[in-house]
Amino acid sequence: MTASALALAPELAHGLVDRFGRRHTYLRISLTDRCNLRCGYCMPPEGIAWTPRPSLLTEDEVVRLASVFVHMGIDKIRLTGGEPLVRRDLESIASRIAALPGLSILAMTTNGISLDRRAASLRAAGLNTLTISLDTLRRDRFLEITKRDSFDAVMAGIEASLAAGYAPVKINMVVMRGVNDDEIEDFVTWAQDRPLQIRFIEYMPFPGNHWHKAGVVPWSEIRERLETRWRLAPIAVHPSAVAKEFALVGHQGSVGFVTSMTDSFCGTCNRLRLTSDGNLKTCLFHPAEQSLRDALRAGADDDAIETQIAYAVGLKQAAHAPMEELTRLGNRAMVEIGG
Ligand code: SF4
Repeated sequence: MTASALALAPELAHGLVDRFGRRHTYLRISLTDRCNLRCGYCMPPEGIAWTPRPSLLTEDEVVRLASVFVHMGIDKIRLTGGEPLVRRDLESIASRIAALPGLSILAMTTNGISLDRRAASLRAAGLNTLTISLDTLRRDRFLEITKRDSFDAVMAGIEASLAAGYAPVKINMVVMRGVNDDEIEDFVTWAQDRPLQIRFIEYMPFPGNHWHKAGVVPWSEIRERLETRWRLAPIAVHPSAVAKEFALVGHQGSVGFVTSMTDSFCGTCNRLRLTSDGNLKTCLFHPAEQSLRDALRAGADDDAIETQIAYAVGLKQAAHAPMEELTRLGNRAMVEIGG
């Protein structure tokens, strides 16, 4: 968006505050679209056309854009993918971003493979909090869901993360009816006396993931099931928090619910996303994107980048479309966004 175009609509640019008064303070940066798993709810079975390496943001570009966002008011950054651990420069990226003045939290979401070797070094680099995706506690089912026999590697990654002092370690479980919903109680039993938080994520529609509404297990149903065996006490969270969190009374572990399908939280959304090829996405489910990479590579200075970001935020939608419509909007596959 050119400065002249912005001059036409200055009312749209208020830094990271959108037309609905939502202040965006949380940036999710996808470092790659590559992954060493093939989870059906994330990666289309036929795979995706990987972004050519020259089109991916370099380490310097990631750090520069992160510094622009932090200068505008972002105080939490989450590193995602694809799978962020496939980047060899991850520790360097993490330490440079963690050093940005004004950043409070540096988080990462990972599938946990090779985390057993890197959990401690990433913590030393400045990573504060870790979320590990795991949708089953059964090896055979892990193979079915991810098409890879990496169950032991993930479990070793979880143990190494706890040993490295991340607490709690958050476990993201995408609950799919008829696939893994019979393990809901097993996950809580596994986690109840450890510094683990199991986050039950409602199954979301993305291009190529064969989503169907009947596959969604509403959070209210999961909560009801858990309350037949555990006492859940609400945990006070940030108004823009993605998950509804509950303590397991009498236990160390906790649970969370990410309810974007049956109880969406768009009204308090504070999230922006940067894709691995440098596009700004103001909403997970909306296909609109703006290339910050191209502006960078064309020599734009930080002010011009800030203006472009502010304009995009100014155009952000109030909420995501109804779940049945989401796969028809021409969005990217989940693996290309990073959740
Ligand atoms: S769907 Fe979009 S607007 Fe709603 S919470 Fe997610 S990112 Fe925010």
